[in-house]
Amino acid sequence: MTKRVFIAALGTETNQFVPFPTGLRGYQEHGIWHGDATKHEPTNFTAPVHVWRKETEKRGWTVIEGLSTFAAPSGTTVRKVYEDFRDEILAGVKAALPLDAVLINVHGAMVADGYDDCEGDLLSHIRVIVGPKVAIGAEFDLHCHLSALMLDSADVLVGYKEYPHTDTMERAAELFAIIADTVEGKVKPVMARYDCRMIAQYRTSVPPISEFVVRMKSLEGKDGILSVSLSHGFSFADVEDVGTRTLVVADGDLKKAEALAEQLGKELWDNRERYATKYLTVAEAMDRAASHNQGPLVLADRADNPGSGAPGDSTFVLKALVEREIGPALFGVMWDPMAFQIAEEAGEGARIRMRLGGKSGTVSGDPVDLDVTVKKIARNVFQPYGPVMSPLGDMALLSSEHVDIAICTRRNQTFHADAFRAVGAEPADYRVVVVKSAQHFYNGFVGVAKEILYVATPGAADPDVTRWPYTKRKTPFWPKVADPWK
Ligand SMILES: [Zn+2]
Repeated sequence: MTKRVFIAALGTETNQFVPFPTGLRGYQEHGIWHGDATKHEPTNFTAPVHVWRKETEKRGWTVIEGLSTFAAPSGTTVRKVYEDFRDEILAGVKAALPLDAVLINVHGAMVADGYDDCEGDLLSHIRVIVGPKVAIGAEFDLHCHLSALMLDSADVLVGYKEYPHTDTMERAAELFAIIADTVEGKVKPVMARYDCRMIAQYRTSVPPISEFVVRMKSLEGKDGILSVSLSHGFSFADVEDVGTRTLVVADGDLKKAEALAEQLGKELWDNRERYATKYLTVAEAMDRAASHNQGPLVLADRADNPGSGAPGDSTFVLKALVEREIGPALFGVMWDPMAFQIAEEAGEGARIRMRLGGKSGTVSGDPVDLDVTVKKIARNVFQPYGPVMSPLGDMALLSSEHVDIAICTRRNQTFHADAFRAVGAEPADYRVVVVKSAQHFYNGFVGVAKEILYVATPGAADPDVTRWPYTKRKTPFWPKVADPWK
């Protein structure tokens, strides 16, 4: 008999330390599809849903598609917005019964007003509707709070392994294969997670942590191990499950899953100093930039990464560049719709004094006042992010004595050197290029950068996790304490 599979997607990444709630508009900007996401071009977030439809149809099974929606990372989602989305998915599941499987693409770090663990809440409600026999699978972003409720509610959870997230479709296909085997009675997945007692950031595209990705993959598909994930964690939320966890899905043997999750967690712990990303202070970064003469030094303004929910208009690094007179420097892409409006009004070639950035609150620092020339205005700009194009709205390039500043009207992180080229700035021509991104910029800049370094500022995604006021986490963590196992 043909099997019946329900597919849907709901997610965002919630930074609870920014002063912006995420309402309906945040989701509308990225797209809300009521059951027809796969009739449109895939986005980063709907790509897994496309994979699942294709895989289901390939087997001659029946696919029922529910809601797909995603909002750009920002503050806490408005309660009614989350509840309405959740209830639409639940109504879709109910209407689609009888089902053999449910596949949901979630983020894993979505927080709504009243819900610290939206994914656990959603999956547990689905479980109540479908009962214990239907296979539930979810794919998650490695920047995730991997909660006990998620594990209790789903049969299989599979996380991205790569950061930048270049493997969402591969992981979707793997998840589908395990769920399909579950439906056909070939495997009985059981899951275990392990709290590594760490909160840190890891960049899997470069050694040495790339070796851990290889290690995880080498364990899968043999000796009863179905899948291995590392949830890096998302540091900018005050929820119980904030932090790094390993996850193992085994075939029928919970003890084996637990043992391997613990073993991998301990390997990660032993390598924490090697694996965790190192960050320079602003002063250290400026020293490096001042003495850099061999082609562009790319500095990642990690703490103001809009992809981590930060505003994208912080001025800590800009102020330092101006004060230290380090140039030629290229800075951006900074979210400043008000400055854009003024620049557009003045027109290309105009020389004006402008107040730049620092408009979103203390996490963005103070505005910087500069005499600038409006070098270029560009409208409706898109930049490549892997295979998709990602919008920046309208952009302007403002040129000051030492620093050229690229601004945009749509809050988004800087994924690619083409974002700057859209306003006529060639990153290769600068001594230093500052990008508002944590790591997703990497593939788009590695070709022009002579060197890439990471900077920490007091922004909304400050990687110095020892300063964030976590009140709900129950176990101690490194680096807040040197040995959280004592
Ligand atoms: Zn992520």
